[in-house]
Amino acid sequence: MRIPFICANWKMYKTVDEAVKYVKEFRPRARELDGVEIVLAPPFTALHAAAEAARNSNVGIGAQDLYWEREGAYTGEVSGPMIREAGAEYVIVGHSERRTLFGETDDTVNRKIAAAFAAGLCPIACIGETLDQRERQETFDVLDRQIKRGLDGLTSEQIAQLVIAYEPVWAIGTGRNATPAQAAEAHGHIRKRLQHWFGRDSAELCHVIYGGSVKPDNASDLMAQPDVDGALVGGASLDVRSFVEIVARSRQAALARRAAGRPGGAV
Ligand code: PEP
Repeated sequence: MRIPFICANWKMYKTVDEAVKYVKEFRPRARELDGVEIVLAPPFTALHAAAEAARNSNVGIGAQDLYWEREGAYTGEVSGPMIREAGAEYVIVGHSERRTLFGETDDTVNRKIAAAFAAGLCPIACIGETLDQRERQETFDVLDRQIKRGLDGLTSEQIAQLVIAYEPVWAIGTGRNATPAQAAEAHGHIRKRLQHWFGRDSAELCHVIYGGSVKPDNASDLMAQPDVDGALVGGASLDVRSFVEIVARSRQAALARRAAGRPGGAV
């Protein structure tokens, strides 16, 4: 059974003090939101302090990237074991900002996902098409390539533990979210491909979450879609009240879907 998975991506926002203040304010609110897996992904500098502030709560901590080697002469990089030791349990891999601004490829994403698993971290692997690609009707081809190359060599057991974030690049930080129908179509496609390449059982356990301008106002409609198992939230996660609202509405939508006996998606 997949329970809703909601991750806050703080990008390059929040100092150590700001991160700790947020976690202290957020954790009592999160306690009321059971049955949801909640993750906060601060910058590297705040990982340890945020993990300490979240200790013994239902709030998990994730990093926003990692390097695939354990240690070595890789100036500026941070490894999976280092992230794990800092107290994080999750790591975002292949975010479109890293692909477009820092040269990430499906190959580097693949190595990073393998390194995350090796370090005992749950990877949140981001995929998604650009606006040009969507307009050229290449969305499914792009997703297929990113899944095939990015997840190459993973076992069915790893796919079952993986979180895939479908994030159409044109929807990230733009205020223009995918429509619920567009999200449902893409998520359904991703699930089918996972079934085909990794088997039905692991595909059913893999979380496929949506990212791209998720806000309190659109969270319910997006989360009500089949195969939308949660959200990766950037801008709207920076404010505690707004993020609490998104988690609460997503949880409500998942509960309503279960009550209605509708198939697919997180329950
Ligand atoms: C993101 O950073 O993954 C993201 C989806 O950002 P935003 O919610 O701001 O579009």
